[in-house]
Amino acid sequence: MTLKSRPSFQGSALPRALFYLFALLIILSGLFLAYALSVYEEPPVEPAWAVGGSEYIPPGAVTVRFSGTATLLFSDGETQWMTDGWFTRPGPLRLLAGKIGPDLQAIEAGLAANKVTELAAVLPLHSHYDHAMDAPEVARRTGALLLGSESTANIGRGWNLPESQIQVLVDRQPVKLGQFVITPIESRHFEFPDPAVRERALGEPLISAPLVPPVRVFDYRVGTAYVLHVSHPKGSWLIVGSAGYVEGALRGFSADTVFLGVGGLGSQTADYMENFWRETVTAVAPARIIPIHFDSLTAPVAGPFRGQVKALTFLSSDGTLSLLRDQAAANPALRFNTLPRFEEVVLFE
Ligand SMILES: [Zn+2]
Repeated sequence: MTLKSRPSFQGSALPRALFYLFALLIILSGLFLAYALSVYEEPPVEPAWAVGGSEYIPPGAVTVRFSGTATLLFSDGETQWMTDGWFTRPGPLRLLAGKIGPDLQAIEAGLAANKVTELAAVLPLHSHYDHAMDAPEVARRTGALLLGSESTANIGRGWNLPESQIQVLVDRQPVKLGQFVITPIESRHFEFPDPAVRERALGEPLISAPLVPPVRVFDYRVGTAYVLHVSHPKGSWLIVGSAGYVEGALRGFSADTVFLGVGGLGSQTADYMENFWRETVTAVAPARIIPIHFDSLTAPVAGPFRGQVKALTFLSSDGTLSLLRDQAAANPALRFNTLPRFEEVVLFE
């Protein structure tokens, strides 16, 4: 088709110019969107905090392997268990417009990278997709118990995980796995600053029937958000999957190490951050902070760790790194470490 055959352009330069301008704008905004969704920020942690994999694992030591977000594998050489077990990383367009479900290849690769063959349990910290989506398949492949809220149980049922492999947690009732004693403490998810997102992600919290993927991202309702207190003869630690808190909930608990979920924390008000820190970190008086859930949800699980996509930076500022830096400066005795991906690190000798 030639321009001559377009009657509306004949005889007038202005409409034609408008047409080209419009087309250019469409192309530019497409390019901008592609850029904003595929370019990642630096992760909001200090490179100097990074520790490498341990060269020597003393017999009986408690170790941890980190797979990004809040997926942590703990072992004492006898018992292995995992939080979340999340390896599928749907891309931004699929999250925005499509349906999601467990990626079996990604799960296989993730378990292999962590050298997992057998697991006592997999425990999603809440039921959003980036915590609970893959856990039933991880349980199916490893014989693990799926431990979590009733909502997480319904994700397991939707995946046809046998009822004998599903156990619903009770607030503050410890679960024993070998020498690990895990106490689930009901807590809160962090509040999304955008009211529309908050309503979609947290509005109706329960998954009240078996959830059969593929489904939309927010069909993975939050369920109950847990903080886990773990004790073992070698040491004790706290695992915080989301930057929410309940005032006074951790009274009476202490922990040597806090695995601190900082996702979304930097978008909160200064007051919120201060309260979160007091209720979560100060409350248990740790010697060490290990930030988790600071990496992008869409970057490939194989790494390297990346921060959030540029598009999110345009929507809200991320004050996570300055908060962590400030706290590190204010508490010189508190050690900050970030874990390598998949490699085994000694937590307690
Ligand atoms: Zn969440």
